[in-house]
Amino acid sequence: MKVLILGGTSEARLLAEAVNSDKRFDVVSSLAGRVRDPVLPAGASRVGGFGGAVGMTSWIRENGVVAVVDATHPFAESISRNASAAAAQASVPIAVLRRPQWTPGAGDNWIAAQSTADAAAIVAAKRQRVFLTIGRQGVDAFAGNTVSWFLVRSIDPPTGALPAHHELLSARGPFAVDSERALMRTREIDMVVSKNSGGAMTEAKLVAARELGLAVVMIDRPHTPPADVVTDSVSDVVTWLGALARGT
Ligand code: NAP
Repeated sequence: MKVLILGGTSEARLLAEAVNSDKRFDVVSSLAGRVRDPVLPAGASRVGGFGGAVGMTSWIRENGVVAVVDATHPFAESISRNASAAAAQASVPIAVLRRPQWTPGAGDNWIAAQSTADAAAIVAAKRQRVFLTIGRQGVDAFAGNTVSWFLVRSIDPPTGALPAHHELLSARGPFAVDSERALMRTREIDMVVSKNSGGAMTEAKLVAARELGLAVVMIDRPHTPPADVVTDSVSDVVTWLGALARGT
């Protein structure tokens, strides 16, 4: 059974490892090719866009894919939309694997933002020192802010416009609470901006912000497009694939 895993996340790598070790499956992981030095998943992989939903439909058909797993990042909106449409068009089942969201706890001071633009508007309300930890994409939404200072952290540097006053920090998680706290202290951060990506790899910034009493602007996830299964569990997806292989 040929299984296409749309990846670029740690969950996708865990799933590829689990599925690749099962002889019933022939797994191919797909990466966008954005990161210069990606961590490659177990089994076969391909890199680069498909050419929208139409291109992905053709790819699914031409490569004999019988199941698709969208294990992309919760904020990778286009690829998820395309995957849902392509799976429907090619009449193959699709599962979505999404890590759970972060939720605020006691002592957290979160401000909800509907989008990156919304977060930029919230930040612009006063002059402050901001830890912008939303990855490479979307940083340009803050470029018009000429009064605040930004610590911009991402794996690869952003390619779009940047705010006037900033420092770029290139780093890949996982991050520890101690180093996150020290980073926020040395840069005298007042506010953290994050996407609600979820996951343990980058959660330490939220713990550090809570300990330091900092406000966190938390950008909500986009909606998940239609799928046969939506789960946060790798083993649920393996079970789902097993049922497909048995024809049940
Ligand atoms: P996106 O905006 O949803 O995708 C833009 C285009 O990139 C898609 O239409 C597709 O091109 C191509 N693409 C994206 N993911 C792909 C994949 N896994 N395999 C093949 N093509 C892919 O996605 P994005 O936000 O740029 O994210 C790109 C990748 O980075 C994703 O795989 C995601 O899992 C990972 N990632 C994203 C974030 C984030 O914050 N957005 C964070 C960490 C990791 P075509 O239309 O030509 O097929």
